[in-house]
Amino acid sequence: MKAVILSIGQELTSGQTVDTNSAWLSQKLGERGIETIEHRTVADQRRQIADAIAESVKKVDLLIVTGGLGPTEDDLTRFALADVLGVELVVDAAAMEHMEAFFRGRGWRMSESNRVQAMAPKGANMLPNLLGTAPGLACRIGAADVYVMPGVPYEMKDMYARCVAPHLPAQRGAIIHHILHTFGAGESNVGAAIADLMKRDSNPLVGTTVAGGMVSIRIISKASTADEARELANATARQVKERLGAFVVGEGDDTMASVVGGLLRRAGATLSTAESCTGGMVGEMITAVPGSSEYYTGGVVAYANQVKMQLLGVSEQMLVEHGAVSEPVAMQMAVGARERFNTTWAVSITGVAGPGGGTEAKPVGLVYVGLAGKDCRLVERLMIPGLRDIVRLRASLNALNILRMRLIG
Ligand code: AMP
Ligand code: MG
Repeated sequence: MKAVILSIGQELTSGQTVDTNSAWLSQKLGERGIETIEHRTVADQRRQIADAIAESVKKVDLLIVTGGLGPTEDDLTRFALADVLGVELVVDAAAMEHMEAFFRGRGWRMSESNRVQAMAPKGANMLPNLLGTAPGLACRIGAADVYVMPGVPYEMKDMYARCVAPHLPAQRGAIIHHILHTFGAGESNVGAAIADLMKRDSNPLVGTTVAGGMVSIRIISKASTADEARELANATARQVKERLGAFVVGEGDDTMASVVGGLLRRAGATLSTAESCTGGMVGEMITAVPGSSEYYTGGVVAYANQVKMQLLGVSEQMLVEHGAVSEPVAMQMAVGARERFNTTWAVSITGVAGPGGGTEAKPVGLVYVGLAGKDCRLVERLMIPGLRDIVRLRASLNALNILRMRLIG
C-alpha cells in the first residue's frame, strides 16, 4: 500500500506554519509498512485542492488530507472533495448534534458559520472529533481510501488513532523509528562512538540529529513485522547505550526534565530552583511534565542582586567580592533555595546570557550551575558558545543534568 499526504493551508504554503502533520503521519504509516511516496501542500483554493485530490487518488491506494475543515471562508476542503466526487454537501444530523453539544457544554454560542462543519459530501462518512468542532471525512474515490482530518495537530493525531489507523489494512513489512537522546557529548563525539553503526544502507539505519540542545540518535529499522522491526531497533539501541553510557538521557518522548522527574520520584526526593539568567526556564521545563507537583515545590527567579539577597540569602559581601556570576553566588543560591523551599535538592543558575554584559573576565556564555543536597555542594563552570537563546537553553539543561548525574550515581 502506498500513500500520498496532502496538507491544505495558506499558512503552510506561505511558510508561516511548518507542516508537522505530514511528517507525523508518514512515520505512523511507516510503522504499519505503508510507504508515503509524496507530501503535497496546497493553499486554500478550491480548484487546486480538488485537482490535488483527483491526481493523488490515481497514484496511490491511500490519500490522507489534513486542514481546511474549519468554519471560515478559507476552509474549502469539504467543497473540493464534493467537487471530485461530483456530489452535493448534505447535513449530517449526528455531526450537527455533536457540534451543538460541544458548544452547549462550554457555554458558548454556536455561530451560523459552524453549521458547514456538520456537512459532508453525499456518501462520505463523518469521523467524530472529540477535541474540536470539525469532524473528519472518509470516503472512497476509485481504488483509493481517502481520509480528511482537521489541520490542528492534536485533533488530527487523536482522530488518526481512533478513526484511521484501525481501518488501515494489515501490511507485510513494518518500519520502526526509535530515538535516543543524549546530553553532554557533542554530535561529532557521539558520531565517532557509534560510527560503525551508522553505515548507510544498513538495517537498522542509524543517524544523528541535534535539536533542543540535545544530540539525538535515530534508529530506523525495517522487518516483516512490527515486532521484528522493534526487536532489531532495540538491539541497536542497546549497543548505542553501552557505548554512550550516562550520556544517554532517555528515549522517545523523554525529555531531560521528565527523566530527572522520574529519578526524583523513584528516590522520593523533592526539588526547588533558583534561576537568574534563565528566568524560570528550568521551572518551565520541570512543570511541563505532568505530575511534576509530586517532586517540584517551586523556585525563585532571582534576576536582580537585591532579590538574590532578599529571597535566597546570598550575602552582599559575596556579590561585591565575586560578582553575581560566580561560583560562590551560584552555591549560595542553591543552598538558599534548598533551605527556603525545604527540598531534598535545589539547582541554581547564574550566568552571562548576552549579547551584552560580557567582560574579559566574564564573557558572554559564562554560566555557573549549582546543586545543593544533604551532603552535596557542587558548582559547575560552563562556557557555552552561541547566542542568548542557546546559552539559556543549554544552561537550563546543564542544571538539570548535574542533578541527573548525581541521581544516577
Ligand atoms: P485548519 O484545519 O485548516 O483550520 O487548520 C487549523 C490550524 O492547524 C492552522 O491554523 C494551523 O495552525 C494548524 N495546521 C494546519 N495544517 C497543519 C499542518 N500540516 N502542520 C501543522 N499545523 C497545521
Ligand atoms: Mg486552514
